[in-house]
This record gives sequence, structure tokens and C-alpha cells, in this order.
Amino acid sequence: MPSLGRPSSFTHEVVFRRCPDCQEHNIVREDDFVCAFCGSDLPAAWNVDPTT
Ligand SMILES: [Zn+2]
Repeated sequence: MPSLGRPSSFTHEVVFRRCPDCQEHNIVREDDFVCAFCGSDLPAAWNVDPTT
């Protein structure tokens, strides 16, 4: 059994963006806002989930 003392895997937030070009969902890592599928720029300030 692994210890449950402190989490070691999730040290930073995972940011999701949906590509405005190909509509694919991307996981943004290390502020690399580029679509992994088509290479388009992803919006820097936009959530996938509509909150308003
Ligand atoms: Zn794309």
C-alpha cells in the first residue's frame, strides 16, 4: 500500500482549452497554448466549461 501522506503527482493545475479551429480538447502544459492537433493558437484566457 502506498502512503497517503501527501500528494506527489498533481503538483500543478491541469488547464484545458478547446481549440477554436478543430474543436479538439487540449491539455495545456507549461503555458504552451498551441493546439496539439492542428497547431493553432489556443486562447490564453478561456475556459472549456461555460460558467456564465
Ligand atoms: Zn486545433
